[in-house]
Amino acid sequence: MDTISKLLDTASVKRLALAHGFDKVGIVSAEDFDFPARVHSAIVLGCATLDEAYDYEMYIQYQGQRKWHKAIYTLLEALSARLAYTLRQEGCRAEHLTFEDSISVIDLKKAAVLAGLGTLGLNNVVVNKEYGPRIRFGTVFTDLELEPDRPLDDYYCSSCTICWGACLTWALGPNGFDRSRCIAEFNPTPEMLERQRQMLKFPTPVTRLQCISCLTSCPIGKRLPVEMWFDVRNK
Ligand code: SF4
Ligand code: SF4
Repeated sequence: MDTISKLLDTASVKRLALAHGFDKVGIVSAEDFDFPARVHSAIVLGCATLDEAYDYEMYIQYQGQRKWHKAIYTLLEALSARLAYTLRQEGCRAEHLTFEDSISVIDLKKAAVLAGLGTLGLNNVVVNKEYGPRIRFGTVFTDLELEPDRPLDDYYCSSCTICWGACLTWALGPNGFDRSRCIAEFNPTPEMLERQRQMLKFPTPVTRLQCISCLTSCPIGKRLPVEMWFDVRNK
């Protein structure tokens, strides 16, 4: 531990994460999770998804393997890998999690809420104060003992139920979230697979867009402007 850079205190790690391109960052302690023994803290990292293009998925078939890649998860993985590399250069252990890793080793919703990055809305996703549900999360595991954040005190999901009304298959409602009725479910029933096929959009010849109505309908953070490169190229 003597070789660890003085730059790796909690505030410096957060500044580093923001400098690497993340929009939000929070810390959770291993005490609240069942992490591998060497992991003392998880850096929870958020990227805003103000444009639906972040949810475009691209189908790839390579050497007999088939995969759908979603733009936002590719971005999160790349930025997280870069941050982990920088942290390792400073002398600590750090490893980024892929989307698949995240599913199996950390409950990202729980982590984002514990890290004070949002509150669990009636749409069953983390609603950030600034971006609403238009934010996705990734993680870097580290052996640094960072100061954990605290969950937010206020619950600002307004319970307007607009997200329930936007869900065409009644997957959301007073009884919570029914995964079996969600059109974006990974392992749909034959009936839901047919609905997925009917409702898929194909924004480009090689990309598809699944249902994200419960995210786009939420009024929190909805009016934030998104600057695309064609907006800023002449500035
Ligand atoms: S993704 Fe679509 S189907 Fe699934 S809960 Fe959200 S609005 Fe409903
Ligand atoms: S649409 Fe309304 S009820 Fe649903 S998450 Fe957003 S604020 Fe909460």
